[in-house]
Amino acid sequence: MSFSSLGLSAPLVRAVETQHYTSPYPIQQQAIPAMLQGKDILGLAQTGSGKTASYVLPILEVLQRKAPTQNRAVPILVLVPTRELAMQVAQVLQSFAADLPRQVKSMAVFGGVSVNPQMMKLHGTDVLIATPGRLLDLVDRKALQLSEVEVLVLDEADKMLHLGFKEEMEKIFALLPARRQNVLFSATLHEEVAFLVADMLHNPIKIKI
Ligand code: AMP
Repeated sequence: MSFSSLGLSAPLVRAVETQHYTSPYPIQQQAIPAMLQGKDILGLAQTGSGKTASYVLPILEVLQRKAPTQNRAVPILVLVPTRELAMQVAQVLQSFAADLPRQVKSMAVFGGVSVNPQMMKLHGTDVLIATPGRLLDLVDRKALQLSEVEVLVLDEADKMLHLGFKEEMEKIFALLPARRQNVLFSATLHEEVAFLVADMLHNPIKIKI
């Protein structure tokens, strides 16, 4: 099994080779083609499974054929529970994006640091990786618009709920367009997550690693 057989084009295949990924992990084998087809995904996977690349690579692939984002209406939103995960996802994404023909602007925003430097850098962001509280803060400050989000990824959704972000998440969902692709990763499928899944995902491809 190769990355190109999953539907990734030559520039993305070169990017995975540069990162020394020789063959796709099982979660990547399942998630990458499904994401490229625009399907919703429910991924039950732990850290270490390779889940980050399983959504980052198709996001970068789709962006290769998309015009650069011009304003503050971010097209791709990745919600994460913690600052650490936000920075880690941004770093993985940026390392794959380094030599792509179509430059990708990505940014991680999280609380616990001042909001102004983040606000000033948001313009033209293609992929925003955010913790829920800071994201809402940036929306309130009109630094960001969520009405044109095409792809929503929830990474570690169970942890987000555990940390008490349910209300923030619901406020965020209400600001998103109804028609969008939804991708949800969680290590567990306890009651609250199951509720979120039922509410948010449309005929999802289910992946369990
Ligand atoms: P993650 O579960 O996304 O945090 O990834 C766990 C680790 O596996 C990270 O260090 C990745 O760089 C690595 N990794 C993910 N996919 C592959 C792959 N296909 N080949 C080699 N390493 C990988």
